[in-house]
Amino acid sequence: AFDVLIVGGGPAGAAAGIYAARKGIRTGIAAERFGGQVLDTMAIENFVSVPETEGPKLAAAMERHVRDYEVDIMNLQRAERLIPAGADGLIEVKLASGASLKSKTVILSTGARWRQMNVPGEQEYRNKGVAYCPHCDGPLFKGKRVAVIGGGNSGVEAAIDLAGIVAHVTLIEFDAKLRADEVLQRKLRSLPNVDVIVSAQTTEVQGDGRKVTGLRWLDRTTQATHALALDGVFVQIGLLPNTEWLKDTVALSQRGEILIDDRCQTSLPGVFAAGDATTVPYKQIVIAMSEGSKAALSAFDHLIRHSAP
Ligand code: FAD
Repeated sequence: AFDVLIVGGGPAGAAAGIYAARKGIRTGIAAERFGGQVLDTMAIENFVSVPETEGPKLAAAMERHVRDYEVDIMNLQRAERLIPAGADGLIEVKLASGASLKSKTVILSTGARWRQMNVPGEQEYRNKGVAYCPHCDGPLFKGKRVAVIGGGNSGVEAAIDLAGIVAHVTLIEFDAKLRADEVLQRKLRSLPNVDVIVSAQTTEVQGDGRKVTGLRWLDRTTQATHALALDGVFVQIGLLPNTEWLKDTVALSQRGEILIDDRCQTSLPGVFAAGDATTVPYKQIVIAMSEGSKAALSAFDHLIRHSAP
């Protein structure tokens, strides 16, 4: 059995692996895809001390760093069930392969995925104008025209944020009105370079083969279609935590995020969680890494207090 079993191999899981292994305890990482969302990222410009890098490069560096230690990396393994500790004091993680892993402590770091519009052009122009993270990609659109899709809190926050960087923002909401908090809506309406379109369904992201040039949207009240010339489209219709498999075992927030305290402890003793899968505010690489480190130190602390000598 492991002392610490980490489920998920993104920035949070990698950092947890390094911190746990450095304590000289038996550490394993089971991940569906080692690297996580970082593998899907092109330019990364906010990884502190590295002014510019690329996702696949950072993911490879994370893996090299983890492999410097005695960490059992089980890649391409999807966890399907978490079973709380029984009489033997071991927590069990069942994998889709049919195998089952046991550990004294578990760190959940299964991350999240952005909800997609599923319209033509979205996949094709991902990282070529279609973006999901304003903190990450906003500066790439300095002085340009962008759309934000989604009028909830994250969409309206993104539009306010981007309005300070880009030339013009068009916020597009499917419903007849925005769902964001009133204070955010008021701020949004006060900005001179933001237009809001409601009852609008985005039907296509358009491009010239290399990058985004615009989008088409359907006016849901008149059924008329319109085109908008743009350089970027920020999709803000929800970040879905990869926690469906945990529904019956650990306490989740309304949005499905794993509830953690300030030591990354979940509702289950010996089970910790870190990164985008949790309630931690702001989903970023450096935040996921620090949360993963914190979760590993908490797991170690748990082991020295609860394990037989
Ligand atoms: P993830 O990176 O999501 O990793 C989750 C891990 O868990 C993966 O290994 C996955 O395969 C695995 N997993 C999921 N479910 C299971 C399961 N059931 N069983 C086993 N394994 C499972 N952040 C920045 O700071 N700067 C940026 O420039 C930036 N740009 C981004 C661009 C894009 C396109 C995207 C999508 C995100 C970007 N982010 C950026 C956000 C950043 O990538 C995330 O905040 C970060 O990767 C979260 O790390 P994580 O370890 O919590 O989760």
